[in-house]
Amino acid sequence: DTELKRQLVHRHIRPFPDFPKKGIMFRDICPILKEPAALAAVIDLFEEHARKNYEKVELIVGLDARGFLFGPLLAQRLGIGFVLIRKKGKLPGATVSVVYDLEYGTAEMEIQEDGVAPGQKVLLIDDLLATGGTLLAACELMRKQQAEVLGCMVIIELKELNGIEKLKPLSVYSLLEY
Ligand code: IMP
Repeated sequence: DTELKRQLVHRHIRPFPDFPKKGIMFRDICPILKEPAALAAVIDLFEEHARKNYEKVELIVGLDARGFLFGPLLAQRLGIGFVLIRKKGKLPGATVSVVYDLEYGTAEMEIQEDGVAPGQKVLLIDDLLATGGTLLAACELMRKQQAEVLGCMVIIELKELNGIEKLKPLSVYSLLEY
């Protein structure tokens, strides 16, 4: 059943060569959203893993932007809340931010100051793990908030970039590896 769900998800990921730049194979998750059964399979697999491994999770924290597509659905299933980490300048009110490195230059992400309470147990969610820089920055943000990150969940892990290594000792659960 788990394997069939994985296969269903796999069939709804489209590879695009040379996007956004030459030499990059972009994995597009949009077809998952167009097919209710595939979207349900993603959330089923995340839910199953979370219930088994992160029984004490209190909040799902999603990364800008595709973490927002899956995070709230998972949070609803688990009966807990969802909070956004956004690129700089999008959130109103007091925020906490972190600067992180990109391939060229830096970027900044932030969360509302009252988004996560000290000691709260959270799970981070995004669509894809590449170098791990984005999730690592999100962890840093959670550290500033004194939240406890139980783990990370993504649909796709790009193995050869070794993001898992960068995030250790934190565990990252992925539905598919490429
Ligand atoms: P990282 O920080 O290098 O791990 O990159 C992960 C971030 O870049 C995630 O927020 C992804 O949404 C995005 N990303 C990188 N490559 C892809 C891709 O092939 N498909 C979809 N998103 C990607």
